[in-house]
This record gives sequence, structure tokens and C-alpha cells, in this order.
Amino acid sequence: MAADCIFCRMVQDRSLMPYWIAESDRALAFLDIHPIRTGHTLVIPKSHAVDLAGITDADWADVAGLSARVLNILRRRLGTTGENLFVASGPGSEQSVPHLHVHVVPRTAGDDLHFTDWWATKQTSPTPTDLAALAKKIRVGPGP
Ligand SMILES: [Zn+2]
Repeated sequence: MAADCIFCRMVQDRSLMPYWIAESDRALAFLDIHPIRTGHTLVIPKSHAVDLAGITDADWADVAGLSARVLNILRRRLGTTGENLFVASGPGSEQSVPHLHVHVVPRTAGDDLHFTDWWATKQTSPTPTDLAALAKKIRVGPGP
């Protein structure tokens, strides 16, 4: 636990987590207090991890599993038909709270997020040569 971490304090003192949704051995889920869609939920590891670079495999597996459980609950209880999961990880990612959290954003067809519209404005078209060079730079192991 990090003493100055709001999410660690919420794990230790459940009275600070009034919008609790579900939990597992290593993860907790609760409503985001500034949702971008009704039912927007945060899933956090119970143990402090600033970001994905510092989380254990076991904690990340449990956060991922609880996220899937939550989205199924949201589909059943709210009638949503899809979701986007967002993770801001690390100082370059605009992460707002330095305790890893997965945003589970429930969606329905035709809702007003228009995520793909924003995505399209950010897409680039590197050449095959550039992509091959980048893959070679990043690759771990011999590849196919
Ligand atoms: Zn923390």
C-alpha cells in the first residue's frame, strides 16, 4: 500500500468506496465518479501498482478477469451490448491516478461516444518498409 494513494486508501477503508460493484481475490471494481457512460466502472488491483510496467502477472490476470466479469454484469443489468476498456499506463499516457485502473466503459450501438471517429483522426499510414524496420527493432525472439 502507498500511504498517499487514494485507491490504496479505498482498498483499506471501504467507507471511502461507496460505489463498490464487485471484487475478486486481487481486484476491486467500483463506479467512476465522473462517468463518460452510465455504468462506467473502474477495476483496480488491491495491491499498489502504479502502472502496467509494475504490476505482477497474477494481479493483472485478476484485474483482467474482474473486468470481464464486470462487463458481463453491465450487459445483463444495464442492457449494454459492448464496451471499451481503457488503461492509461505511465507518465506519458495522461494517467490521472498513479494506481493502475482499467476503465470499463459500457456501450450500446449508436451511442454518442463515436470512438471510431476520433480514432480515424489519429491513424497514420507508415510504409511496409517502415513497419518492418519497427517490428525488427521491437521484436522479442526470432519471429515466424
Ligand atoms: Zn495505490
